[in-house]
Amino acid sequence: MQICHTIDEIRVTRRRARRDGKSLGLVPTMGALHEGHLSLVRMAKAQCDLVAASIFVNPLQFGPNEDLAKYPRNFERDRELLEKEGVDLIFVPSVQEMYPAGAVTYVTVEGLGDKLCGRSRPGHFRGVTTLVSKLFNLVEPDRAFFGQKDAAQSTIIRRMVRDLNIPVQIVVCPIVREPDGLAMSSRNAYLDAQQRKSALALYRSLMEVQERFDQGERKVHALIEAGKQSCARVPSLRLDYFEIVDLETLEPVDDFSRGALVAVAAFVGNARLIDNIVLGPA
Ligand code: AMP
Repeated sequence: MQICHTIDEIRVTRRRARRDGKSLGLVPTMGALHEGHLSLVRMAKAQCDLVAASIFVNPLQFGPNEDLAKYPRNFERDRELLEKEGVDLIFVPSVQEMYPAGAVTYVTVEGLGDKLCGRSRPGHFRGVTTLVSKLFNLVEPDRAFFGQKDAAQSTIIRRMVRDLNIPVQIVVCPIVREPDGLAMSSRNAYLDAQQRKSALALYRSLMEVQERFDQGERKVHALIEAGKQSCARVPSLRLDYFEIVDLETLEPVDDFSRGALVAVAAFVGNARLIDNIVLGPA
């Protein structure tokens, strides 16, 4: 397994892989890896000759009062996990390498970047799309693997790739959950035992909505209310949003004719957690 720290190294390595005619899959991450990340790696292994994972805690996607400084970092553990999965290459650049002084160019997906998490985290998706487009330019993957866990992110990246004609296929993989249903997240590490229990309210609220939908409820407002009330039963949970939106536009829907994304975000202590389900067309 090769570890590249610099842009020069990654470009040389990419050129070599291209000469050999090998297909390359990329799994972008911020490290602090868990089974959710590893599921993306396994999907990439199944679909590509070579797999690269990037590890970069991207300052551009954190707001000024967010958890950039204390975001969990453990490169040695991540390296071991990726090696065990048979990853061929890790790209682990420094902030300086990715954003040298004077960098002022950003990639913005207009009209989508301010939806869902983008509303409460201004600039977050601009940070994501700027970094991911740089990673695509550097690694030139044939396919890139993202998690449905960050559903809005996947939608926005798909749109960016389409709009900018980036020659990469985006593959979105299912959410990996803990046995009790909590979506795996690097930020779950922030939770103490009591908060860990409270955090389950996100999944429970989605299951409540799913159940009502399965029983025939199609009024969007009623489903959102049910989800919000379910969250409200846990007083230590601070709801950011509970929304039902179109899978492509991220705009609120009136019906389920095109299917819909049910997305929730909430703070438990200082940890901001997100989760979602997709409700199929009626
Ligand atoms: P992150 O390190 O949080 O930026 O996540 C890197 C990638 O892993 C993103 O595409 C996420 O959507 C994906 N991911 C994170 N958690 C999960 C999960 N529980 N299940 C599936 N994919 C996930």
